[in-house]
Amino acid sequence: MADCIFCKIAAGEIPSQKVYEDETVIAFKDLSPKAPVHVLIVPKKHIQSVAHFAEEDKELAAHIFVDVVPKLAADLNVADGGFRVVMNTGDDGGQTVNHLHVHLLGGRKMTWPPG
Ligand code: AMP
Ligand code: ZN
Repeated sequence: MADCIFCKIAAGEIPSQKVYEDETVIAFKDLSPKAPVHVLIVPKKHIQSVAHFAEEDKELAAHIFVDVVPKLAADLNVADGGFRVVMNTGDDGGQTVNHLHVHLLGGRKMTWPPG
C-alpha cells in the first residue's frame, strides 16, 4: 500500500534492523524500544489491524502466533523469563501505524494494566 511505512520496510525500501524474515512475515527492532527486547512482527501483506483480518488470513495469523512469536521469543532469549505480546488496535487502542503488527516485548518485568 502506498505511503505505508511498514509496507515500505517489508519491501526493503526503508531500512530496518531485521531480526527475522520469511515469505509472508518480517520482524524488526522497534525504533523506539519500550523494553530491552522490543520487536515488531509484521505481515508483508497490508492488513490494517487485527480487526481487519479476513477469512483468507487464517493461515497467516496462525503462522504469526504458532510459529513466529515462539521462535523469536526463544531466539531473543525471553521465552523462559516471559514476555508480552501486544496488538494496539485503532485509535483508542493506541495504534499509530495502520499496518497490523505484533509487539513482542521482554527483558524486564512488565506492569499491568498498561496505560
Ligand atoms: P503502534 O503504536 O502499536 O501502532 O506501534 C507502532 C510502532 O512502530 C511504535 O512502537 C514505533 O516506535 C514503531 N515504528 C514506527 N516507525 C518505525 C520504523 N521505521 N522502524 C521501526 N519501528 C518503527
Ligand atoms: Zn502497509
